[in-house]
Amino acid sequence: MDDDIPYLLLTPGPLTTSRTVKSVMMRDFCTWDDDYNSIVQEIRAELVRLAGGGALTAVLMQGSGTFSVEATIGTAVPRDGKLLVVNNGAYGARMAQIARTLGIACTEISQPETEQADLRRIEAALEGDPAITHLAMVHCETTTGMLNPAMEAGALARRYGKSFILDAMSSFGGIPTSMDVFGSDWLISSANKCIQGVPGFGFVVARREAIEATKGHARSLSLDLYDQWREMEEKGGKWRFTSPTHTVRAFAQALQELRDEGGVEARHARYTDNARRLVQGYERIGFRPLLGPERRSPVITSFLFPSASFSFDAFYAAMKRRRFVLYPGKISQAATFRVGTIGHVFPEDIDLLVKATGEVVRELGITFAHA
Ligand SMILES: *Cc1c(COP(=O)(O)O)cnc(C)c1O
Repeated sequence: MDDDIPYLLLTPGPLTTSRTVKSVMMRDFCTWDDDYNSIVQEIRAELVRLAGGGALTAVLMQGSGTFSVEATIGTAVPRDGKLLVVNNGAYGARMAQIARTLGIACTEISQPETEQADLRRIEAALEGDPAITHLAMVHCETTTGMLNPAMEAGALARRYGKSFILDAMSSFGGIPTSMDVFGSDWLISSANKCIQGVPGFGFVVARREAIEATKGHARSLSLDLYDQWREMEEKGGKWRFTSPTHTVRAFAQALQELRDEGGVEARHARYTDNARRLVQGYERIGFRPLLGPERRSPVITSFLFPSASFSFDAFYAAMKRRRFVLYPGKISQAATFRVGTIGHVFPEDIDLLVKATGEVVRELGITFAHA
């Protein structure tokens, strides 16, 4: 851990970034100048490559990741379209809420937060309701850290002739992804997740043919993904409104560092090692993960509270004093807390985290009363 880092963010975004990503922000850029717009164009090309290449195109959008999800849903789905949303976590629920807010017809498949997307229910809905035009699902549900079967859902969407919108926010760049393999027409992520940039914008990779067909669909001016895309296409990487220049420069550096690390495969291997050490270490101490190994992602892991008297606030504060920032739980079915393993965080850091956690467990007299 760098000495100039006050603490390590073990959270799924914003996350810990490298010193070099932060330092390239010490320069101001004009939003219309070629020096800046050529950076945007390189980023767009790199995102297309990371999504598998081919007939894809990328567009960047100001705001946090949700702004890009809202821009995609609000632009991709035509006025007479209908969205089928898989909801097995907070981010699936948010996509349904976006559709309702925008007045888009929407059917939701509601499942418990600990159950992976039910492919039979998806198929039944696609088969039973010909009005559905789009399927939306989250790849890694950051709510729990659970992975959904994106490839299988994409194959269903393809079979029934529906457009597939994948929220790959917390997996893109950290888990090997190919839009062709996943059968997705739209893939959404943001700067401050596995690519390890700083917050400020999100991005969408789309099949060129799909985005070309969306002119005039948007229910919002600032979140019109089509308009934003046309501007970037026609004006060489220019954004429509003020763009987050410093964040964009940091993101370009983060992409360079992803390449230097050996690409997505190498990053995935590091995250997997981080998560494995975390779970093994925490299980040795007495904690239990919420999900079985077959459902877990290397992005973030949910742990059950060890007993009814456990105080997350006291645990959090003691861990923060040791320079580790953990993440509260977000699910309704069980009391949990979460530990993220993405970002500029390495297996040595996780070993230190486990050691510090053992000390805190002794210091606070935490007991384990799992059934
Ligand atoms: C982080 C995240 C988002 C976007 O959240 P913001 O707070 O708007 O950045 C959306 N979906 C998933 C799965 C996420 O992990």
